[in-house]
Amino acid sequence: MTDQYAVFGNPLGHTKSPQIHSSFAKKTNQDLEYTAIEASLNGFNTAIQKFRKAGGCGANITAPFKLEAFAMATDASERAKLAGAANTLLFDGERVFADMTDGVGLVNDLVKNLGISLTGKRILLVGAGGAARGAILPFINEKPSLLVLANRTPSKAHDIINACQHQDNIRACGLEELTEQSFDVVINATSASLTGQCPALPKSVFLEAEAAYELAYGKGLTPFLALAKNANVKVLADGVGMLVEQAAEAFSIWRNIRPETQEVIKTLKIPIE
Ligand code: NDP
Repeated sequence: MTDQYAVFGNPLGHTKSPQIHSSFAKKTNQDLEYTAIEASLNGFNTAIQKFRKAGGCGANITAPFKLEAFAMATDASERAKLAGAANTLLFDGERVFADMTDGVGLVNDLVKNLGISLTGKRILLVGAGGAARGAILPFINEKPSLLVLANRTPSKAHDIINACQHQDNIRACGLEELTEQSFDVVINATSASLTGQCPALPKSVFLEAEAAYELAYGKGLTPFLALAKNANVKVLADGVGMLVEQAAEAFSIWRNIRPETQEVIKTLKIPIE
């Protein structure tokens, strides 16, 4: 029987996950089917149980169910535990393993696809929602010289950093505290761009930056990327590569084989300028 996988979310809109995973499956000769299931807002658990009973092997989870997905797991990766959220579930009998592949997808896109080394660099990660939370551990693993998590509501950034083992080069702050600070890589992990807004960042953060990365994708030159462009930042990227890389990581957890990502990224990429 063909193995079944699905993405769960609400709304799912024009989710690209079925296209990405079908392409991975074809390229790696895996016999699987991947569908999109829009669960009702209070029906995530029921939808997952139904899927498991029908033989579902694994799932991707997107907004707003990542916290519920983590809560239903019998065991979880360290990065999912730190995020307190899961975007990937693996079903194995009674076992439900939870992982969070968004952060490692982001790091892989920056390092492998865009050629931006993070080791020894000053990194500014803006935002303290699920995406930023999931990215902290993968960024720490790259050994930056400084990692600053800045958020509009500073207490949320402090909560995340306090949950990490204390390291002097990892800090939390509010956006207004960034004045006169500069970074090598600036990442917008807020949802501001989804409504055409920009986090209130001082221009100083871009002055020495080699790259600016917007987690949202398919939005063209967002206000955040425009700010970076005005400050002559050379590498501007959106989150389409992250989307494909987090999917590749999930695929390898399910199938124990890592698919190539370049071709899929090329197919989905929309020029941002
Ligand atoms: P959350 O809703 O969990 O968090 C939203 C964050 O954005 C909060 O830190 C919030 O600050 C901040 N924010 C929202 N509006 C503004 C604003 N106008 N100015 C400053 N800060 C603002 O979202 P997620 O973490 O789940 O997602 C964040 C982004 O990442 C989205 O654009 C999403 O599409 C993208 N994403 C991309 C993925 C990919 O594969 N490319 C994967 C996952 C997410 P506060 O705490 O003060 O409210």
